[in-house]
Amino acid sequence: MSGPDEFEAIARLFRPLTRGAPEAFGLLDDAAAVPARPGYDLVITKDAIVEGVHFPLGEAPDLVARKLLRVNLSDLAAKGAEPYGYFLAVSWPAAWTEEARAAFAHGLGADGEEFGLVLLGGDTTSTPGPMTASATLLGWVPAGGMVRRGGARPGDLVLVSGPIGDGVLGLAAARGEIDEPALAHRYRLPAPRLDLRETLRSRASAAADVSDGLIADAGHIGEASGTRIALRLEALPLSAGARRWLDRQPDRAAGLLALASGGDDYELVCTAAPDRADGLGMTVIGEVVAGAGIVVTYEGDVLDPGAGGWRHA
Ligand code: ADP
Ligand code: MG
Repeated sequence: MSGPDEFEAIARLFRPLTRGAPEAFGLLDDAAAVPARPGYDLVITKDAIVEGVHFPLGEAPDLVARKLLRVNLSDLAAKGAEPYGYFLAVSWPAAWTEEARAAFAHGLGADGEEFGLVLLGGDTTSTPGPMTASATLLGWVPAGGMVRRGGARPGDLVLVSGPIGDGVLGLAAARGEIDEPALAHRYRLPAPRLDLRETLRSRASAAADVSDGLIADAGHIGEASGTRIALRLEALPLSAGARRWLDRQPDRAAGLLALASGGDDYELVCTAAPDRADGLGMTVIGEVVAGAGIVVTYEGDVLDPGAGGWRHA
């Protein structure tokens, strides 16, 4: 819903983000119309952010916008989908100035170009509450080709695409609790692993992005697949910053458990049959076995899931 001022603002802030896509009709119609693409499925995902919950008051508006797109792009990457377009709902508090709104739109534009996304439509409101925004992203996969969470089979390997724990350490760094500027930057501006989507589609039996934490997200794959997941924490790939942090921890197993329990890594966790896993170029961190649930070990010792505090109720 929009008043006259909003129409002007939509045209100024958001129309450029359609990048001329004819499907968006310049944001002048009630809806967009996307022609069906024969032989492809649309993969659709949505994430919302709330000021003070998902980002702190005073965060740079362009980073807020780019992170909103990137957390959604990470879902598309995990599903093997090629980014296409998005819908945007945004609620502006009065405290968000014209400059802040323009910076937000500018951030969307920068990442729209970087990742090949066009804005297709959305909704704009004002709010007496905190700034909130949500994006619905659309991507394409060859028909039937979306990489599901439910395809893992006993005997498959479990792999991750990159460092684990940088999200939770990055949050601590962004809050000034630890001195790791590179991790703080990565937390504020994650890098979705879209580079992996083709190999994932051809080689992985199941995949998810690491947004809730490695153990939780690997657990989601196990649950959806009706299998048990066994993870070896000593095998986790770690960034230089995470290794520095871990070396300062009195209990290495507990430290690794914390890194594997934190969220916001935006790497991919997947499963693959051993003969297909090689070409993924990822790190093997465990196996899929018969049964249910998840078992986490450190150098052969089974860790108590309760002690890590990672269990999602
Ligand atoms: P309606 O009241 O019919 O739902 P609006 O007046 O809210 O429509 O929106 C008019 C047009 O502007 C629509 O094409 C809508 O998709 C677009 N639009 C509104 N807000 C946004 C936004 N935040 N991002 C992108 N497009 C938007
Ligand atoms: Mg309308």
